[in-house]
Amino acid sequence: MTKYVFVTGGVVSSLGKGIAAASLAAILESRGIKVTLIKLDPYLNVDPGTMSPFQHGEVYVTEDGAETDLDLGHYERFITTRMKKANNFTTGQIYKSVLERERRGDYLGKTVQVIPHVTNEIQEFVKRGAGVGTEHEVDVAIVEIGGTVGDIESLPFLEAVRQMSLRMGPNNSAFVHLTYVPWIAAAGELKTKPTQHTAQKLREIGIQADVLLCRADRRIPDEEREKISLFTNVPTWGVISMWDVDTIYKVPRILHEQGLDGLICDKLRIHTPPANLKRWDELVREFEHPEREITIAMCGKYTDLSDSYKSLNEALRHAGMHSHAKVLIEYVDSETLTADNVQQLAAFDAVLVPGGFGKRGVEGKVLAAKFARESKLPYLGICLGMQVATIEFARHQAGLEKANSTEFEPDTPHPVIALIEEWQDADGSIQKRSSSSDLGGTMRLGAQSSDVKSGTLAHEIYGDVVTERHRHRYEANVNYLDQLGAAGLVISAITQREKLTEIVELPRSVHPWFMGVQFHPEFKSTPWGGHPLFNSFISAALAHQRERLQIVGSEKAAA
Ligand code: GLN
Repeated sequence: MTKYVFVTGGVVSSLGKGIAAASLAAILESRGIKVTLIKLDPYLNVDPGTMSPFQHGEVYVTEDGAETDLDLGHYERFITTRMKKANNFTTGQIYKSVLERERRGDYLGKTVQVIPHVTNEIQEFVKRGAGVGTEHEVDVAIVEIGGTVGDIESLPFLEAVRQMSLRMGPNNSAFVHLTYVPWIAAAGELKTKPTQHTAQKLREIGIQADVLLCRADRRIPDEEREKISLFTNVPTWGVISMWDVDTIYKVPRILHEQGLDGLICDKLRIHTPPANLKRWDELVREFEHPEREITIAMCGKYTDLSDSYKSLNEALRHAGMHSHAKVLIEYVDSETLTADNVQQLAAFDAVLVPGGFGKRGVEGKVLAAKFARESKLPYLGICLGMQVATIEFARHQAGLEKANSTEFEPDTPHPVIALIEEWQDADGSIQKRSSSSDLGGTMRLGAQSSDVKSGTLAHEIYGDVVTERHRHRYEANVNYLDQLGAAGLVISAITQREKLTEIVELPRSVHPWFMGVQFHPEFKSTPWGGHPLFNSFISAALAHQRERLQIVGSEKAAA
């Protein structure tokens, strides 16, 4: 039977609940327990796909094409169980499902209410996420409840998991509450009052925490832990300190040392061999002892909010660790790039243009791709970054002067990037997609496989077949591929099913490392060995740096 650990949060948001939940899952997994993670989001959007990355951070895409909360990215980086659509749901999805049932008459004329209908639905969704009754059923599902205790929004979720734990009996579920213990500089003290209150708030709705994970900028001394214990009815060994660290990969070790997994396994009556965190320790050692340092220019739009590129940042770091290098990422706002200042990119070891939507900043990205191509700087274009590389190549190498994507210029004379419906028109004319298009429903989403052309850089990296995840609407226009190919652009991978362009690159004879990919490789990168595409990109950046330093060195010697 599946057992559950419910993870809630108190006092303030952004304390790292996702990392805490993922870390606990990782420790349990190292004890041989089959685990999964589920995220419940208390907002009315059906999924985060339509939300601005400024507000919500990155939209993480699963193998089966769900647009989910970025915490699912942490989950996949921390444990081996793969996330699916069912691992993340929102209030919007719950209500949608309840209302559909109501319209179908499933409730047999009863008054449909939050309790029990919405709370029952939540419990069904949680069980579905845990794979109950299927071959994917896990031993322990860790359920992270978004939001903060005390919010009106999260009340139905908390009520649902309270009922669930009651129904399952005493040793089948546990409650972990993440709280904040602020350091008040003027008093020179850590303050426990907000934690006392949030635990009380939780008890008010019938939930007694088994564990308090106390976030603070420092380790919490025993005296304060005892005080917290006394006021919150949580035994002192359940009051666990979670202090600020320089890498999230240290968190599993910190929690394990204080006995978190032991406590949870006791409570759930699970007997296993002890945890083995050797590979986490090795990861941290690698992180702390890089041999070199490289700097990547990330030319994007959401530069003031690194949460928007969470998985990408992690993927670059993973590849760095794999190459014993520390990867520094410098955001360059593409809106500020002009022909006069694009030269600044020469100071970097590589250029990366990440995914994005909308016209703003696109011309700056085209300039960045042009500069990287001409100056032989390693270039990786992801999704939109591949599209701008194609536009740039069309304009400056294939003689298609005003080439563009119809996303940015609907009337462009050369729509080298366009919606499939647009470029499939037999007479070559551009026809607009009907304006009723549902924002949530028109994307190419999730994993797809492509055949890779032999003799290419892509083939060196991936072998014969590449399977990566997608999230985009526009595609390289098939009608221009011959012309681009004749001018020297290599189409190195094509999707198996729809024959869409998946990877473009420049031949090695022309450029040491220049590649654009229509997919998002960052979603599949884990700390364990890094991702082959990012590993290759980082080693190209390292090689470029070596060459650059040699030139600088010989210039100095000559002077
Ligand atoms: N805006 C582009 C498209 O929809 C690229 C999307 C992306 O980079 N994720 O095709």
